[in-house]
Amino acid sequence: MKTKGRLVVISGPSGVGKGTVIRRLLGECENLRLSVSATTRAPRNEDTEGVTYFFKTVDEFRSMIDGSEFLEWAVYNGNYYGTPCAAVEENLESGLNVILEIDVQGALEVMKKRPDAVYIFIAPPDRETLMKRLVGRGTETEEQIKKRCAAAAAELEQQDKYDYVVVNDVLDDAVEEIKSIIEGKNVK
Ligand code: ADP
Ligand code: 5GP
Repeated sequence: MKTKGRLVVISGPSGVGKGTVIRRLLGECENLRLSVSATTRAPRNEDTEGVTYFFKTVDEFRSMIDGSEFLEWAVYNGNYYGTPCAAVEENLESGLNVILEIDVQGALEVMKKRPDAVYIFIAPPDRETLMKRLVGRGTETEEQIKKRCAAAAAELEQQDKYDYVVVNDVLDDAVEEIKSIIEGKNVK
């Protein structure tokens, strides 16, 4: 019988480097897949339908909720975000490890349903660095940045609920640390 893959939940404030770290992990770990979430937020330049997100209207998203298609869903900054369960289960069954990159509210939901998953919070070295990265990315309006910073403060307070807190200071170190957690060298 095939061994099931491991479910890995990654959260952290906007701009901390989750996307950057996860891109590296996906490039370096052959048996790792990223769950593609559905969202009602508008696509950014770097977004590709079906690759970074499945972009949905509010009505479409609500009908997915009604159809119990999500492992979890949450409202972040006025937009819906959710993890479609089918692809996650298929990949886990076929022995692949699966990353969910979701906000803290969503992760708390998954903790109730999947205590077997590994929960990793990516933290910034300090708040000033976080702000610099968020502004430096240049994808958000000033208004959006303010909202994301407010959300970040609340998210940082919840980091103790995770199995691991990885500080993304030097990118290579953060990637290596998460790789050893996923590969089970550092099992909870
Ligand atoms: P998130 O997905 O958490 O919102 P991103 O991956 O988009 O964050 O990263 C935000 C910005 O910070 C990007 O411009 C990225 O290049 C930069 N960044 C990510 N990790 C590091 C790091 N360890 N050191 C310096 N800059 C980083
Ligand atoms: P962004 O708009 O920057 O892509 O994502 C905003 C926030 O939504 C991030 O904290 C990200 O982790 C979170 N997010 C992305 N997909 C999901 C999801 O499917 N569910 C939940 N709960 N949060 C998500």
